[in-house]
Amino acid sequence: MAESAIKISGKKQSRFLDKVKEIVPEGGNLDACLTCGACSSGCPATGIDDLDPRKVLRMAALGMDEELTTTPWAWACTMCMRCIYVCPMKINIPQLVFNMRAAWPTDKKPKGIVGSAMAARKNDSGSAMGLTSEMVMETVGELLEEVQEEQEGWEHLQAPFDKKGATYVLNQNSREPQMEEDEMVPLWKILDMVGIDWTYPSKGWAAENYSLFMADNELWEENVRLKASGVENIGAKYWLNTE
Ligand code: SF4
Ligand code: SF4
Repeated sequence: MAESAIKISGKKQSRFLDKVKEIVPEGGNLDACLTCGACSSGCPATGIDDLDPRKVLRMAALGMDEELTTTPWAWACTMCMRCIYVCPMKINIPQLVFNMRAAWPTDKKPKGIVGSAMAARKNDSGSAMGLTSEMVMETVGELLEEVQEEQEGWEHLQAPFDKKGATYVLNQNSREPQMEEDEMVPLWKILDMVGIDWTYPSKGWAAENYSLFMADNELWEENVRLKASGVENIGAKYWLNTE
């Protein structure tokens, strides 16, 4: 009898396989994936460079570490978490993607993400767009004055900074003061209409945190601590982060 053309020589050793086992229920049984496709059908990244979340999971299961740490799929995932919500087995694919990203050397990670994460370290507002607290406060102040003067019925509107003892502290994306400042006003009005006692923090103003997308836990913690210190300075009860 002729020798088979395909030889299966056993599983490769895989760093990611251990991670997969942690994120699959029932003691890491990969058969838990039903290949039902619910994850792929709702995934906004499905189809980008032929990405399919099921393929990522299967590659990890097969020990394809080299492919996992070089495929552009690692950067197509938006970390939106939709796949977990629809997965009947609650398999955590974005955590797997996070581990894939973390394994990439920093100089190989996408420059836009790394640049944004690094920019946030260089200013006291934590802005990935490089806005200092003074710049944000100036933009907000000018916009508020404009609304108070020009919009009937909104003369009393407030957008305070560092109001001690406010119940809520609000973070927003620094894209708004930088590029879409009018987008901030509807939220101020909503908070006013429902009678929320709120304030912006000058320190740690920016809501975004690119360290998550970069998969750098140390930078991530640094950014969150900056934001948290802004909340603590005010003594707020609740922290509203719009990202
Ligand atoms: S939704 Fe869950 S069970 Fe279904 S294919 Fe995706 S990972 Fe597997
Ligand atoms: S977290 Fe990533 S893999 Fe999951 S649905 Fe969102 S983009 Fe797709």
